[in-house]
This record gives sequence, C-alpha cells and structure tokens, in this order.
Amino acid sequence: MTGTETSATEYDSIVYEVPVPKVARIVVNRPDKRNAQSYRMLYELNQAFDRAAQDDEVSVIVLAAAGPDFSSGHDLKDTERMEALEEFDTVGTWCGFGCAGAEGRMAIEEELYLGLSERWRNIAKPTIAAVQGRCIAGGMQIIWPMDLIIAADDASFKINPMEMGVACAEFFHEPWELGVRKAKEMLFTADFFSAEEARQFGMVNRVVPADELQDYTLALAERISRMQLFALKLAKGAVNSAQDRMGRHDSLQVGFAYHQLSHSHNQELFGIPADPTFMKAWGRAPQ
Ligand code: ZN
Repeated sequence: MTGTETSATEYDSIVYEVPVPKVARIVVNRPDKRNAQSYRMLYELNQAFDRAAQDDEVSVIVLAAAGPDFSSGHDLKDTERMEALEEFDTVGTWCGFGCAGAEGRMAIEEELYLGLSERWRNIAKPTIAAVQGRCIAGGMQIIWPMDLIIAADDASFKINPMEMGVACAEFFHEPWELGVRKAKEMLFTADFFSAEEARQFGMVNRVVPADELQDYTLALAERISRMQLFALKLAKGAVNSAQDRMGRHDSLQVGFAYHQLSHSHNQELFGIPADPTFMKAWGRAPQ
C-alpha cells in the first residue's frame, strides 16, 4: 500500500497514510504476528483515529491490515501491557489497572476492549474496514465499530470466547452484527464463518475479490468523501442513535458484565492468576 502521505515511523504497530485527498487510511502493521493486538497497538490505533478525526482535510477513515490475515485477536504474549497503560493517555476513568482480582481485570478490559471500541464506534466521520484473511476474536472488536465493512472473498471470521469458557466478547456487538439467531449459533459453536456468510448475516456490506479489496475500499471511501461532511456526520449520528434507542447501549453493558462474570467464575474455579492471559482449557465442560 502506498500513499501520498505516509508516516510509518511515528508508530510501532500501525501505518497512517492519506492515499488520496480526504481519505485517511490506518493500516494495522504487525503481519509477522498476524496483527495480534498488543495494548500498544490499540492505543496507537486510537491516536490515529483521533488524528484523522481532528484533521479537517480528512472526511473518511479506512481501517486496513497488512499481510494475509486481518487479525488473530488479542496478543496473549504481550509483555509490555503495564508499560503501555502508563505511556498512553487513558480514554476512560476506571483506572486502577494494577488492582488485584476482578477490579484490575475489569478496569483494563473496560479501558482497552470496551472503551476504545465504543469510542471508535462514535467517531463522527464515516469509517470503513477492509478485511482479508482471518479475523478472529479481538479482531472483531476493531472492525465492528466501523460503519461499513468490506471483505475480501478469502476472509473468514470467528468469535471464540466460548472456547475459553467466556460468554461473549467484551464489546458485546454480536446480536447487532449477526442477528439474534446467528449470534447465538456463532457464540455457542465458535465456528468460522465465511465472508459471504457474514454478508448474508448483515455484518459485511460487500464481498470483493481479494486482489481488489484495497482499491475497491479506497474508491468507495473517495466516493463517500465527495458528499458533504456535515451531512455524513449527521447521517451516521442518526443511525447510531436509532441503534442505541433499540437497546444497543444497555445490552452492551450487560454483555460486558457477563463477560467479566465468566472471567471471575474461571478464576474462582481454576485459580487463574490475575493476568488477563487466557487458557483454552477453561472452555471445556467437565467430563
Ligand atoms: Zn476479557
């Protein structure tokens, strides 16, 4: 991906570029780790979204990823979590990230996995995700907040908290992305589903050939950027408001609370340390 204005050096885990006038593209850039999300990456994404939001020359924001897979989810081997929490400005007010037990874990997840996703969902400008390859678990929590999702025909998706004995994602958007019945199926089974299935569920807007994904998404972003920006912001706000009046915001809190209850249950039963690293064994029913 080349852009007219690129600034890879300012970030460790992402690239920020303006490939055509009025369109910013933020590229998740840890392909050697299948774009696993470290805390640093999530905060850098947040900085880049802020940068695009604050740039009056930018009307539309594209989220893309380098390499064959969009994201393998949270980086369970991230060894610099607390350093990142200290280095970057937090977006929420829970804090107490080092507290013992459920208090610290909930604070961290409220900040990084709910707070950031919800913040990006509410960016005023239109946002578009371009997804290729596999997008798993936490990967969903960075594409679901986007307004539109364009998928390559090789894309596949997986919602896997159940494999870890956890109810649902921290950013509980499954019913809104998949519809109620498919949300239950995909949560219960943790099966992969294809780009075409995702389109049928309503999670994905368009499926395009993999080698056309970036060009198609950029052309769509450019076309939208020619509309009046204020009207775009108001259209987005009106749809988001409608979704919240249908109960999205309240159910988001319930899903997050149940997610935390799952973590606490596993800790109580299995004595898992406070570190938010998961073990797949938690998801197995007693034999
Ligand atoms: Zn969690």
